[in-house]
Amino acid sequence: ELFEIFGTDRAAATPSLELFRDRVHPDDCARFDAAMAAAIEGNTNFSCEVRITLQGGGVKHVHALGEIQTGPGRDTEVIGTVMDLTERKRTEQALHDAEADLARTLRLATVAELTASIAHEINQPLAAIVANASACARFLARGPAALPNAREAADCIVSDATRAGEVTRRIRALLRKEAPRHVVLEINRIVDDVIDLLRATLDRQRVAIRTDLTDSLPPIMGDPVQLQQVLVNLITNAAEAMRETLGWPRIVTIRSRLGENETVVVSVEDTGSGLDPQTLDRIFDSFYTTKAEGIGVGLSISRSIIEAHGGQLSAAPAPQHGACFSFTV
Ligand code: ADP
Repeated sequence: ELFEIFGTDRAAATPSLELFRDRVHPDDCARFDAAMAAAIEGNTNFSCEVRITLQGGGVKHVHALGEIQTGPGRDTEVIGTVMDLTERKRTEQALHDAEADLARTLRLATVAELTASIAHEINQPLAAIVANASACARFLARGPAALPNAREAADCIVSDATRAGEVTRRIRALLRKEAPRHVVLEINRIVDDVIDLLRATLDRQRVAIRTDLTDSLPPIMGDPVQLQQVLVNLITNAAEAMRETLGWPRIVTIRSRLGENETVVVSVEDTGSGLDPQTLDRIFDSFYTTKAEGIGVGLSISRSIIEAHGGQLSAAPAPQHGACFSFTV
């Protein structure tokens, strides 16, 4: 097996530590020597992951492990073996690359949603600001100036401008490369934010949004941007599942209620195609998708986000048509 890993002809070489040492990748030699020296000095086992270079020029990842045998009056002996990790490393790297790509894709998808609603969300307060500013100018130009009306128009300008500022704040939060930050937050506020974000897109898809949010839920600890991403995902999936819906209304209903032990439960229910019981346990797997343009990572990423918040994300059939996804935080 070792000859196989090292790609050497068993007739051409006698196994030895030197033979192994010579093959260790130059960048890993120092680490390998240090691990070996530490083991010999401390008379302990050793374990070290290194790359080895093959005669043909290829590189393999191996895990070298061994033990030191020593005793009075005898030479120190190192007995070791190596395990080939190349395949595992390749898979890990592929997975890591895929995860990085997908996290980026998900983020971009969220940004795309966002971009679609920016025009809508910013245009509205801007138009109101223009209207209120001209009204304000007119009230001031009157003789005598209609001061209370002018003040009212100015107040409206302030709140519209604040609303437009909130939109930019959300975009900045989404684009900032910040590590997840757990803060105290109100889940209903997150739901409202996401609905604001997706309203224009859902209108275009002729999907009605209903909410049934329980007032005065306990505050929760979480990362607002990540929880927004989960909701964006669930609502986008709901809308996509209702694309083919004919004969009954396309409705997505978002509910929040108190769960057990001071947790909060949020659910997103649709009137779409529903879940196939045969594949129900696979929809949370990475890369599982039934959509032509799907990537199949939305639910798996959402589930890891919710689990990182100490909660659970699950799916069940909706009472009439469609599916209901719920999570606890
Ligand atoms: P993607 O949306 O890229 O397919 P997801 O991980 O978000 O990836 O979803 C995986 C699969 O789960 C979908 O392709 C679909 O088959 C199923 N699914 C998700 N949400 C719903 C829903 N609301 N109704 C019916 N099926 C759904």
